[in-house]
Amino acid sequence: MGVTLTTSDGGRSEIASDAVEQLRSGLHGSLLAPDMPGYDEARTIWNAMIDRRPELIARCADASDVALAVRFAREHELLLAVRGGGHNIAGNAVCEGGLLIDLSPMKAVRVDSAARTARVEGGATLADFDREAQTSGLATPLGINSTTGVAGLTLGGGFGWLSRRFGLTIDNLLSADVVTARGEVVRASSDENPDLFWAIRGGGGNFGVVTSFEFQLHPVGPEVLSGLIIHPLDAAGDVLRFYRDFLPTTPEEFVCWFVMRKAPPLPFLPPEWHGREILALAVCYSGSSLAEGERVAAPLRAFGKPIADVIAPHPYAAWQTILDPLLTPGLRNYWKSHDFREVSDGLIDALIAHARTLPDPNTEIAFAQLGGAVSRVANEATAYGHRDGQFVLNVHGRWDDRAKDAACIGWARELFQAAAPFATGNVYVNFLTQDEGDRVRAAYGPNYDRLGKIKSKYDPDNLFRLNQNIRPLAYA
Ligand SMILES: Cc1cc2nc3c(=O)[nH]c(=O)nc-3n(C[C@H](O)[C@H](O)[C@H](O)COP(=O)(O)OP(=O)(O)OC[C@H]3O[C@@H](n4cnc5c(N)ncnc54)[C@H](O)[C@@H]3O)c2cc1C
Repeated sequence: MGVTLTTSDGGRSEIASDAVEQLRSGLHGSLLAPDMPGYDEARTIWNAMIDRRPELIARCADASDVALAVRFAREHELLLAVRGGGHNIAGNAVCEGGLLIDLSPMKAVRVDSAARTARVEGGATLADFDREAQTSGLATPLGINSTTGVAGLTLGGGFGWLSRRFGLTIDNLLSADVVTARGEVVRASSDENPDLFWAIRGGGGNFGVVTSFEFQLHPVGPEVLSGLIIHPLDAAGDVLRFYRDFLPTTPEEFVCWFVMRKAPPLPFLPPEWHGREILALAVCYSGSSLAEGERVAAPLRAFGKPIADVIAPHPYAAWQTILDPLLTPGLRNYWKSHDFREVSDGLIDALIAHARTLPDPNTEIAFAQLGGAVSRVANEATAYGHRDGQFVLNVHGRWDDRAKDAACIGWARELFQAAAPFATGNVYVNFLTQDEGDRVRAAYGPNYDRLGKIKSKYDPDNLFRLNQNIRPLAYA
């Protein structure tokens, strides 16, 4: 008796058991079936809305395992999913009935402190990378939740507290080892396969499986000046109008994001504020002089009457994990996102109005600041094609009770619509949900057609289709 798997066209195909055994024995890692220990852990991802059961999971130990699994999927025309850190909201890291390539055993990070570079395997998390790089006082821009995968974050673009200063994560990518749809391992860099290198800097998992990334690092820390300033939501209009005028006066070492949500029971918040709507400004100054950071942040800290101000020096690696308790895996999530060039009055009003009707204590309105080094790179220099966006709204619909699905999804969609008139029309591909395939073209703008041509070259049969999919284009 063989194993029946879902094929890439949605059909079912029986694979002879000796072919499956050959795959199993060829792997340095392991091959999991649904009845085996570790199977449920390997198929469970961050967003609990996604509950899919692959028929086989190849837990890869190295690039040759990945190549073997890719060749197996191609030969048998299987539905194929690729899992890095398993964080993506759309849930494409896992498939129903097909083959899952799980890179999570591949977490090695090797830092060359003299060259200020790092080699990072495709299953490493931000925490794995930051921890190792910070032992040499180095870092590259990554995201704000340490359990996120380096792979998915990088392939979509990647931004966080260091991005105004050092650009997107992809702007610091020097090379990558990629297993193509043919099952070959190739290097992508500005010298080798430069078309592929261009495409993977923002084009997601469409072009192959990245087994290893090489990054440029920068001296950061060991401490940054960082923390939260919390205001009542009733003050948010005044604070955000001050915020938008204040930001252009700050250097690129300084960044300030904000969140609107119901106050969690944090120890530094007076108990009477727990559960009430707040605006939290999240500040990070990563320059070498923390005294200069104090000077830069002072006007923002002096504005209005904050409920709490907990800005202080923090080890950079610790600051990178500070939001983890609010972003734990296992809750139901539905996100909507827009890019903005400015924080307009209309946008501020729309955000505040919806913050008054948050459908769940876990739901939040998150707002990231970009610009600086991100915007100095040309839109056509990498696949990430909307560098003029200065801010990113991420409506984090987030809740735990399945009975609230309709209310929470409906609220997120309403805020998305209300904010749309003020948005650029672009979107960050890493924040798209599973029902937003129609926004992929907007995510890439004029770069989309070039991506389609490169897709035709490296993956003409769309083996890597379980992602924010770029369709192969025939060469003109
Ligand atoms: C709580 C939270 C906070 C976040 N914060 C930020 C942030 O601050 N900044 C930011 O830029 N983004 C942020 N993100 C978005 C994040 O960048 C994306 O969700 C990203 O896709 C996660 O990568 P992953 O490897 O964990 O995800 P996965 O779900 O494992 O992968 C996502 C997709 O990438 C592809 N993929 C994964 N690994 C590989 C690989 N090795 N080779 C080829 N393709 C691969 C696959 O198509 C897969 O479906 C956040 C997400 C969450 C859930």
